[in-house]
Amino acid sequence: MIASINRTKEILNKYDLQAKKRFGQNFLIDSNIVSKIVNTANIDENTVVIEIGPGIGAMTELLAKAAKRVICFEIDSDMVNIINNEIINEGARNVEIKEIDFLKVNLKDYNLEGEKVIVVSNLPYYITTPIIFKLLNEEVIKEIYVMVQDEVARRLVGLPKTKDYGSLSVMIKYLATAKFEFKVGRNCFFPAPNVDSGIVSIKRTKNDYNLKNEPKFLKFVQSIFEMRRKTLINNLLKDYDYKRNELEEKIASITGDINCRAESLSLDEIIKIYQILGLDK
Ligand code: SAM
Repeated sequence: MIASINRTKEILNKYDLQAKKRFGQNFLIDSNIVSKIVNTANIDENTVVIEIGPGIGAMTELLAKAAKRVICFEIDSDMVNIINNEIINEGARNVEIKEIDFLKVNLKDYNLEGEKVIVVSNLPYYITTPIIFKLLNEEVIKEIYVMVQDEVARRLVGLPKTKDYGSLSVMIKYLATAKFEFKVGRNCFFPAPNVDSGIVSIKRTKNDYNLKNEPKFLKFVQSIFEMRRKTLINNLLKDYDYKRNELEEKIASITGDINCRAESLSLDEIIKIYQILGLDK
């Protein structure tokens, strides 16, 4: 299936459907962009690709040509029906489709141990962040290539002291390296959303921090960014059982500034603060 406006309308008409807003359905209609995404993703004949939300299959066929296996997770039964009829029954035998909310998927059920697993997805915008958190927690996934709206793309690669820097940027920096690959204009979708999008790649990396309790660290990161306008110390006083003067002494020893905010701190500084507060156990 070649992604184009005509083909997309033809398929929607054939099945008597309209794009569903509640499922974040904005279908890709630019075949050059589809090729660019598949070429950017590091796929070879040994790769298992997970596609979240294949929709009517704008990317699925090309992914299937490049990969060993493509596992699609789609919440909308109408889309599942289309993928079965138009993609799988038309010959793409290495494609599987599961009708499920991806946030409820347990990847352990899919025999992925020892495989080279990557995610390629034009994500539904209304649950982009929870999906990315889930993907980061799935160690079997080594690389992620996602289409996200511009604002999320900037947060994923955000740097300290910018308005885009937040808990998501810090978590990504801790677990992976993220890169903004290229912009995708709103007119490459049907229906066209109100904002442009971009492709971001996220590659899992090992770090040397040797933290004992990673989940606790990731919660710590979320809590220090919770109230962005509060100082770091005020955010800490809210969630942890410390005395102000104790915090002032420890924070000053690392940042030199007791009034700093989380958004000015590098990942290294955040880790040092987490450790000096004795939280890593
Ligand atoms: N991949 C297609 C494309 O690029 O044209 C469709 C992308 S559209 C932005 C998002 C897709 O995700 C839709 O097909 C939608 O039904 C599906 N979706 C929405 N929420 C989902 C969820 N929780 N789990 C799985 N799929 C979901």
